[in-house]
Formats: sequence, C-alpha cells, structure tokens
Amino acid sequence: MTSSAAAARIFCIANQKGGVGKTTTTVNLAAGLAQVGQRVLVVDLDPQGNATMGSGVDKRSLPLSVYDVLLGHAGIAEARQASPKGGYDVLGANRELAGAEVELVDLEARERRLKAALVDVATAYDFVLVDCPPSLSLLTLNGLCAAHGVIVPMQCEYFALEGLSDLVNTIRQVHANLNPELEIIGLLRVMFDPRVTLQQQVSEQLKAHFGDKVFNTVIPRNVRLAEAPSYGQPGVVFDPASKGAQAFVAFAHETVARLGRKPAARS
Ligand code: ADP
Ligand code: MG
Repeated sequence: MTSSAAAARIFCIANQKGGVGKTTTTVNLAAGLAQVGQRVLVVDLDPQGNATMGSGVDKRSLPLSVYDVLLGHAGIAEARQASPKGGYDVLGANRELAGAEVELVDLEARERRLKAALVDVATAYDFVLVDCPPSLSLLTLNGLCAAHGVIVPMQCEYFALEGLSDLVNTIRQVHANLNPELEIIGLLRVMFDPRVTLQQQVSEQLKAHFGDKVFNTVIPRNVRLAEAPSYGQPGVVFDPASKGAQAFVAFAHETVARLGRKPAARS
C-alpha cells in the first residue's frame, strides 16, 4: 500500500470554553499544514461558522454544508469547498447547523454521523481538523466520535487547569463508551504573553501536570491573527511574516513530526 492510500488523521480542536482560540488554531494549523504539503480538510462544527468565514468561504451562500452531511442529505465530496487562499478544503457551517441538534436526536447512530461521512474522503486527506463549538453538545460528540485525538488550545490563565479537568473527563467518557481510539493529542498554549508572570506560572503547571502532552510550540498573542478573519484568510496566509503566523507554521511542523504518517518505507 502506498502512503497516499492511508487514511487521514482526524483531530478535533476542542475546549468547551468559548473565545479560547479553537477556530484560530483550526484555520491556521490547516493553512500551515497545507504549506508543508499536507492535504487538509477543515470541518466546521460550530453554527457560528467562524472557521468557514475565516477560510474565505461565505457561510451565507453555502449550497451544501455540514448540516446536510450530518443529516445524510449529501456526502462530504459534494458539500466541501476549497478555501480560496488557505490551500485546504472546508466543509462549511452556518446557522442551519443549530437546528441539527434537534433533528439528529431521532436518527440512528446520531453521534456517529460525521464519522460515517468521513469514510468516503479519508484517503483524500492527510489531516482532517474538526473545529468544535464551545459546548459538549451532540455536535461536539460527533466530532469526538470521529476523531483519533483532541488538540486543546488554551490560554494560560488562572482557571485554565480547572476547566481542563472537565474536558479531560469528557474525553475519558467518550473514550470508554463511544470511541476507544480517542486520546488527548496535546495542549496548545495560545494567546501567550511571556511578560505576564501568571501566564508563565500556569504554563509551568501545565508542563508539570501534562508533560509531553504540552506542545513545544507556543502561540503568542498577536493582533494579525485577530485581523485575518475579516479578510477571509488564515493569519498564516494574511501576514506570513507576523509572529503569530510563524508560530502556527512551526506548530504545523511539530504536528507533522509528532503525528503525521511515517513516509512509506523504501524497498
Ligand atoms: P474560539 O473558536 O475558541 O471561540 P477564536 O479562535 O474565535 O476562539 O478566538 C477568540 C478571539 O481571539 C478571536 O477574536 C480571535 O481573533 C482572537 N485570537 C485568537 N488567537 C489569538 C492570538 N494568538 N492573538 C490575538 N488574538 C487571538
Ligand atoms: Mg470558534
């Protein structure tokens, strides 16, 4: 079997807190991975559609979206769009997805709909990144059931560790009951400001608790990353020279080194 026939690695970008950098991590890791030659699909599982818009795809005019895929109206191959500047594909989301929650409840295998849909495109990508909503909803559960692991972006703030224990418990439960493959891939320190002593302290605590589950790359607080979405571009593309963009490219390299498929053995 050649390496291109191997299945994609599927990761959720999750944290039940809002505004912690999930979407920024998703689109910039996707663009960074694309820049180092990886084939990437972003799945937007948040009805806010920020990953969709931040990839340059207009959520208001999606012919088909992740909603249609979850409800079985369409396959991912039909519903995906190309991010015009990002170099990766997007399965977009918009408000319609908020209704999916209710409609899914009565469907068979309601938490495995995304997993089932991804089978068709698994060999078309090296990485699938699922941007989760800030909740532990049926949507997030679909992400966690489909994934090999979870990347957790977090700010090094006072209650960060406490919030983390809820997420770790959830991941444990999903691992035990629904998806034995699921693991925490790593914690990514984002919006980091090394001048803030508290952030340094929390960062040290994280490393003490979680060891090598803490990614080496640290994403700094950088205004260019916050400006990029209004241009429909990941920061990595919008301003490649910015500190934030460079950190995400470094993170893409770290991701490939840690988690990418091994190159096919030469014979
Ligand atoms: P979430 O998806 O977890 O809700 P976002 O990725 O949307 O979080 O980030 C929340 C806000 O913080 C957004 O306005 C985003 O542009 C901004 N932001 C995220 N990461 C950074 C960063 N490293 N530096 C500066 N602003 C950031
Ligand atoms: Mg988000």
